[in-house]
Amino acid sequence: MRIAPLPFHAVTSCAVFVRRLLAVTLLAAAGSAQAIVTPDVPEAQKVPVTNPNAPKSPQDNNPQRRHNIETPALANRRREASLPKPGTEGGELTLAALQELLKDGKAPRTGELTLSAASAAPANSGAAAPRSAARGAPARGAVSPATQVAGKSADQAVHWSYADDETGPAHWGRLDPRFNVCAIGKRQSPIDIQDSEALQIPMEPIQFKWGKAQGSVVHTGHTLQVDVEAGHSIHIRGKDFRLLQFHFHLPSEHRVNGRGYPMVAHFVHKADDGQLAVVALLMDRGEVNPQIARVWSSIPLDKGDRVRLPADGVDLAALLPADQRYYQFIGSLTTPPCTEGVVWNVLKTPATLSAQQIETFARIFPMNARPVQPGNGRIVKSAQ
Ligand SMILES: [Zn+2]
Repeated sequence: MRIAPLPFHAVTSCAVFVRRLLAVTLLAAAGSAQAIVTPDVPEAQKVPVTNPNAPKSPQDNNPQRRHNIETPALANRRREASLPKPGTEGGELTLAALQELLKDGKAPRTGELTLSAASAAPANSGAAAPRSAARGAPARGAVSPATQVAGKSADQAVHWSYADDETGPAHWGRLDPRFNVCAIGKRQSPIDIQDSEALQIPMEPIQFKWGKAQGSVVHTGHTLQVDVEAGHSIHIRGKDFRLLQFHFHLPSEHRVNGRGYPMVAHFVHKADDGQLAVVALLMDRGEVNPQIARVWSSIPLDKGDRVRLPADGVDLAALLPADQRYYQFIGSLTTPPCTEGVVWNVLKTPATLSAQQIETFARIFPMNARPVQPGNGRIVKSAQ
């Protein structure tokens, strides 16, 4: 910042001096405040702060297009999101807000700002999971949950990521012939579940045979995954599916009526015939989740590192909401190789995580969600 020399002549210069001094002080303060509210965290955590009352853009009706409008509009939204939310006017810090920030020295942390913005996103806003957030996300290749399920390392040598570059979701299908279905599949996940288009019908409840799980947490390079020991399953469609592992995404991948959630847990099950069934437990910001706290207490230190869960494990049944109605449809793995034929079961009632629990995950994986994919007219059942 270049500061003009202060004038030293005439009585009027006094007023000029005071004004300039004030301006310089405020600018300097604003600079430091900006430094506080935008700490050294990846761009990816910054989610646009949207106006809940803003009219819905027509293009928001098209999830695919919504995720394809990358730049420069989303770059602007990122910049907007990096500004402090309270007391801002047109992207500028107000004096009152500035004083507030400087007074108690605790400007809103970027993660809290962005996550509250995400969780406060109104239905149909399409604001909770901007594709742009991929920029700056970790870009490390690893064995995905998908390939663990398949029992082979299809993508071990192929680097893919959630970044906004040639390794990102828009390019997965071209990274390796084995990933082709990511690009050409017609039953890809995640999707934006629309109640107005779903079949509203009575459905058998998911029979959860979940208990206290023992196992270990592994850092796959793309998520935190809990590999659970045998003994837990679900019964749907007349078949048992055994729980293999569960893992997390931020934000939630699937949306419901346009709304995304701060996070989701995917519980990956497999039947004896090889079919996969995933239970998606959406996670909203709210109360501390004591079971997830157990998982977080075993967070590995690096990619490939693995830590055992606490001795008494994680009570999976305690994670479930009282109302276990769900949406069901056929989709795919949401990571390469994007294998289709997965029976998705998205619970309608979210669990909660505290802001701090969400931020803990965001510190490791600022954005690990695939954008919404076209529904292509597939049947979605909504349990009544
Ligand atoms: Zn997943």
